[in-house]
Amino acid sequence: MKTLICEICQQPIATFDPDKVRLPLEPGMFEPLEVGMQPPFHHSLGVFDFRCGWCQKLPFVAEFNTAEDVDPEKFPARLKTRDGYFSLRFGITIPPLDLKCQYCCKEYKQEYWLRKHEERCPKK
Ligand SMILES: [Zn+2]
Ligand SMILES: [Zn+2]
Repeated sequence: MKTLICEICQQPIATFDPDKVRLPLEPGMFEPLEVGMQPPFHHSLGVFDFRCGWCQKLPFVAEFNTAEDVDPEKFPARLKTRDGYFSLRFGITIPPLDLKCQYCCKEYKQEYWLRKHEERCPKK
């Protein structure tokens, strides 16, 4: 099982089985964080009506599209998990970026600043 993370508030909100989750997403594909808790998304909801239990926003940033020929660049159908982004198109987890300078190993919290640093890293 993987833990679904809200992309807005970064809180864990549900779990899912990567072998069972696919497009189009349905509430029944997600389970509560702990046994005995309420299901994270009501069974009558469509995917755009899913709400994070913490921030009450749609927990996905990516646009979802159920068409087969969707452009993965424009519609990155993915779920944020503890282990990185789970690609719904390809059924694999893309590990989180290792935000370390490839030359001096300095760590960054944001990719933008890492790229800036790498452009002019003294060890480059
Ligand atoms: Zn949230
Ligand atoms: Zn560096």
